[in-house]
Amino acid sequence: MTTSPTRPRGKMNNSFSPEGLMSLPQDSRELVERRERLLGPAYRLFYNEPVHFSRGKGARLWDAHGTEYLDAYNNVVSVGHANPRVNAAVAEQMETLCTHTRYLSEGVLNYAEKLLGTMGGRGRHMMFTCTGSEANDLALRIAQHHTGNRGIIVTSEAYHGNSHLTAGFSPSLGEYSPLGEWVRTVPTPDSYRIPKEELADAFVEHVREQIKDLQRHGQGLAAFVVDSLFTSDGIYSQPTNFLARVAEVVHEAGGLFVADEVQCGFGRTGEAMWGYQRHGFEPDIITLGKPMGNGYPVAGIAVDHKVVSTFGYDMRYFNTFGGNNVAMAAAQATLDVIQDEGLVDNSLRVGEIIRQGLTDLQERYECIGDVRGSGLYLGAEIVSNRDTKTPDGPAATTIVNGLRERKVLISATGVNANVLKIRPPLVFSSEDAARLLSTLDDVLAGRP
Ligand code: PMP
Repeated sequence: MTTSPTRPRGKMNNSFSPEGLMSLPQDSRELVERRERLLGPAYRLFYNEPVHFSRGKGARLWDAHGTEYLDAYNNVVSVGHANPRVNAAVAEQMETLCTHTRYLSEGVLNYAEKLLGTMGGRGRHMMFTCTGSEANDLALRIAQHHTGNRGIIVTSEAYHGNSHLTAGFSPSLGEYSPLGEWVRTVPTPDSYRIPKEELADAFVEHVREQIKDLQRHGQGLAAFVVDSLFTSDGIYSQPTNFLARVAEVVHEAGGLFVADEVQCGFGRTGEAMWGYQRHGFEPDIITLGKPMGNGYPVAGIAVDHKVVSTFGYDMRYFNTFGGNNVAMAAAQATLDVIQDEGLVDNSLRVGEIIRQGLTDLQERYECIGDVRGSGLYLGAEIVSNRDTKTPDGPAATTIVNGLRERKVLISATGVNANVLKIRPPLVFSSEDAARLLSTLDDVLAGRP
């Protein structure tokens, strides 16, 4: 494999290290080498021993040897791997018509109407993209045009995308990925280490300071952008008493509030359809992606009429694939399944079983310092010492790989990669939760 030993690869949590190549089974080794040759050095694989899947169904995946895995990680396929209703809708639409948003079509309007209905009555419009990165990119272009400012504030370990603009406000991409000139960060609202009564005031104050800093450098605030579950920061679901205050501060400064719902939207938190709703305020722009088409690439933004009006009249928007008939069929079927099968409630119910199970394990295993999360987005922070709350990334990596060896998939997140990241498809059942928890117990106890 053509890797330079003098140049370590940029970080990613739970990634396969090329040094492990020679200890892989021959079939995996050949595939890894072929990937390296054909796809180059920028891609990363999960796990010390990468997995090669050949099919999926519901919350199950099967590898190339036919071994079954429990999927407690993949949130894109939120209504389950190979969901029959989504598959049928996509196949039927593909066989009938696939054109773009420059022709009249009812499908895109029916979907926009139904989706906007889940966000309350406010006068919003839908604009469609193919990826979350494009959605955030478009949101920021609109925010900058509307406000006449360029400043962007995000949290210190945020991820918002891979385009030039969005990578520039995604500090979690690491030290070699440059932040944009007018990008400022505020510390993660770390509810494990910051006292509860101080957290809201401190966070709001950090935002104020960064707004002032932007202004002193001659630029105002275009947007504060946030994932309200702070998933790449380490999953912080509580408290929910500060983003509404941030919205006020942002508006006073003439900026917009962009809620990045790519991770926490579409019922993931169980408590609400949208993550921002848990915080009790209305964002100016809501960006969507990942689970929106259950694997079909569909994403977009919901934006206030007054915010997008100058942009819309001054410029035009077209995205070749965004909002096409097939994308809309996939998105419509996904939303229908979420609603018809009560998956938001399922997320709350099964998420609570997992959260309680993790809390029970925390009583028995010293290494679990904190349990966080909402619905089917859960985090367990692994520490080497509960008193000092010292993050233990290597231990988290061992646990993630121990689960993988026992055919259960999760990953790790946070700046120290020490927070177990559990976010299964929304169709995860209570039996699935029991299997996840008992396997985690085995791993923590060192049982084979
Ligand atoms: N925002 C958030 C919060 C994300 O987690 C991601 C993807 N991990 C994105 C934006 C970018 O989405 P995409 O990969 O579809 O471009």
